[in-house]
Amino acid sequence: MALIVKKFGGSSVATTEKIMNIAKRVLGEKQKDDQIVMVVSAMGKTTDDLISLARGIEKEPYQAKYQREMDMLLTTGEQVTIALLAMAFKTLGQPAISLTGPMAGMHTNSAHTKGRITDITPERVHQELDKGQIVVVAGFQGMDDRGDMVTLGRGGSDTSAVALAGALKADSCEIFTDVDGVYSADPRMVPGARKMKEITYDEMLEMARLGAGVMQPRSVEMGKAFGIPIHVRSTFTTQTGTMIREDYTMEDKDFVVRGVAHDDKVAKIAVLGVSNTPGVAHKIFSSLASANIDVDMIVQSIRNIEKNVTDMVFTVSTDDLAQAKQVMDKVAEELEAIAVLVEEDVAKVSIVGAGMLGNPGTAARMFGALSKAGINIDIISTSEICISCLVKGSQLKEAVNSIHDEFFSGN
Ligand code: ADP
Ligand code: ASP
Ligand code: MG
Repeated sequence: MALIVKKFGGSSVATTEKIMNIAKRVLGEKQKDDQIVMVVSAMGKTTDDLISLARGIEKEPYQAKYQREMDMLLTTGEQVTIALLAMAFKTLGQPAISLTGPMAGMHTNSAHTKGRITDITPERVHQELDKGQIVVVAGFQGMDDRGDMVTLGRGGSDTSAVALAGALKADSCEIFTDVDGVYSADPRMVPGARKMKEITYDEMLEMARLGAGVMQPRSVEMGKAFGIPIHVRSTFTTQTGTMIREDYTMEDKDFVVRGVAHDDKVAKIAVLGVSNTPGVAHKIFSSLASANIDVDMIVQSIRNIEKNVTDMVFTVSTDDLAQAKQVMDKVAEELEAIAVLVEEDVAKVSIVGAGMLGNPGTAARMFGALSKAGINIDIISTSEICISCLVKGSQLKEAVNSIHDEFFSGN
């Protein structure tokens, strides 16, 4: 007997026909005593459509004062899918029950629209499994201490699935999606991208953080924390996909660069002409942190040495841009800065690989590939296992492909 968590993303459950097919497939593969927990996303582009609806009321619905209502709205998407999928199982003679995130014991903090799971109490899930039911859980949602619905950030159903697998001590966790595994770059952007047999949690986490939307970063953190291997595979074929796990078991780990990731949901903010004195960076970034805004790349550059003023340049997610701009306008006034500028035609391209640690030539190769393609680099940032460049958004596709060619063609 095995306890298996299977997560199906939005495009996998886009129509009732697809939902029916998933139910048939799951029953076809189920061993007699298997206990199965399904975690599902909203159908197709439902979450985007719900956000558009909100935009019909308020152009910037992600501002703090609307976030609770956004969660109320967005959690309805997943609730549609769980009911339909549970019904699909029943029509096939399989007892099944749908549970919302809170009913499945998903507790979160109160950070609306980007909540974090704080605890999971899955007793109800166990009870229903013990009755022989397939349990269908709504991804992307939980409840805070006040009893309010909270969503886990875009792509959050991955995190619901992996966290639930951890809390249930599941034997396996499968993420079914519209690609058949994790590739060396987004296969929609790079036609020659290669499918990986396996990738480590650390590398996948970095890829995900840097924009490889196939897995939400927090889901990979959860997998690592619980030591749960995650199998990313196709909804539409039965082929083996990619295993995300602690270390390599099948593939040669002698590669310098594991993958190229990109993120086009990036905006650049420049606070011009702030005083080059202690406390300024703290003021800027603590204000953003208080508003729960993640800051990514940061550069402080000298504007005028004689006057001792500098420019503070950083990037945020486009979702946070409106709020970040509001916060910065206020801070700029307090700091007597010259101006706050925003640039939206930017994107980030990154290379990831644990092997680049002792390989000093890697960065030069990446910059060389961009230079050959005539692409200017705006900001560079590095960590132990990645290098990122901010480029013009309109040149992103070319940037990703030229870097991928540099590291993956011919070997
Ligand atoms: P789901 O709705 O199943 O959660 P997502 O759209 O969130 O699916 O994630 C799957 C998508 O992730 C793919 O269609 C692909 O375009 C994108 N993607 C980005 N980077 C990668 C990568 N390195 N490998 C595979 N897919 C990737
Ligand atoms: N439906 C949510 C989204 O589109 C969560 C998910 O699909 O993982 O972001
Ligand atoms: Mg997803």
